[in-house]
Amino acid sequence: MTSDTIRNEITFASVEPDAGLKKALGMPRADAIGVIRDSNMKGRGGAGFPTGVKWNLAAGAQGDAKYVVCNADEGEPGTFKDRLILTEWPELVFDGMTLAGYAIGAKEGIIYLRGEYTYLVKDLHEMLEKRREEGKLGTDVCGKKGFDFDITVRLGAGAYICGEETALIESLEGKRGEPRNRPPFPVNTGLFGQPTIVNNVETFAWAATIMIKGADWFKGIGTERSTGLKLFSVSGDVDLPGVYEFPMGITVAELLEQAGGADAKAAQIGGASGHCVPAEEFARTIAYEDVPTGGSVMVFGDHRDMLDVAENFCDFFVEESCGQCTPCRIGNSKLLEGVRMLKEGKCSMAYLRELCRLGETMQIASKCGLGQSSPNAFLSIVEHFKDEIMGRTPASA
Ligand code: SF4
Repeated sequence: MTSDTIRNEITFASVEPDAGLKKALGMPRADAIGVIRDSNMKGRGGAGFPTGVKWNLAAGAQGDAKYVVCNADEGEPGTFKDRLILTEWPELVFDGMTLAGYAIGAKEGIIYLRGEYTYLVKDLHEMLEKRREEGKLGTDVCGKKGFDFDITVRLGAGAYICGEETALIESLEGKRGEPRNRPPFPVNTGLFGQPTIVNNVETFAWAATIMIKGADWFKGIGTERSTGLKLFSVSGDVDLPGVYEFPMGITVAELLEQAGGADAKAAQIGGASGHCVPAEEFARTIAYEDVPTGGSVMVFGDHRDMLDVAENFCDFFVEESCGQCTPCRIGNSKLLEGVRMLKEGKCSMAYLRELCRLGETMQIASKCGLGQSSPNAFLSIVEHFKDEIMGRTPASA
């Protein structure tokens, strides 16, 4: 039961399905994009690119076909809010994808579903079939002459890297899921070389909601640079783990207070590729201009060994690096090796400084977001938990 994970009031539960789609279909395409652009919504997957700008670029791009791709490859450790949305409010996701198709001039939408969510496929297929019968997919969607759109579901195979949009597109094309060089960007040269938008599950659900409630409603919540509401997956050492809806700009302390984790030692915001925020910085805000996240908040109590945490994340990236580029492929292995040396008291301060320089080089030199963000956890743990870590370096080094 995913509904058991809901911890506070979530806006999607009170949104009328179809209403956002029908409202968008009653507008010129440019106006529908304008509503999303005016809301200043940034993509809810974590990268934070403005959704209206992305849609506008795709609408203006030339191609024989255009595609709307829903990134449901929810693989970031500690993230489970997209699973909830797809289970409880899938109609809003379909509405958002369909109105995006209308806005950019696409006829085809694809949900790229995380391989571990196979159990959702049957229900999604049945709901899509029902939408076809009701005229919400197919020819002249909802009676809108000339607007044809359909949605299919494709299943990933369990690779974390396929959450990166160009690797996801490669996978959809039947190739090995490896990130592409950018530019060109998917809005111009995406799936099968055609203009493509790739947006997160939550982004589409909010797009349908914004269409009903208006851009000003969304823009009036959150901060100037991080507007609106956001779903968070909260896990770890808290009394009430689960999915919460909060305004962007909430402080880490406020979030932990609600989840019953106010006495935590640290919170990893943004999953394995995010940042580890220590208790003394819990006044920081969760927002694109401060600590960004796609929705994952992992909480660590006082009894946790932060080197265990770092080892876990480093191990994850060694496993999930696609291996295309050296900084990421070798860098993550060296970081993992370094953390294990630290745990055994065999890492000198000089070598720890080298590892930090390596992490900073990976952030600059890696080809895609995975390698660029994979050292974040290591670097932030070293920065904020020096006392814990320095106590284990050889005294003479
Ligand atoms: S950064 Fe890592 S995941 Fe990205 S292309 Fe390079 S090796 Fe692959």
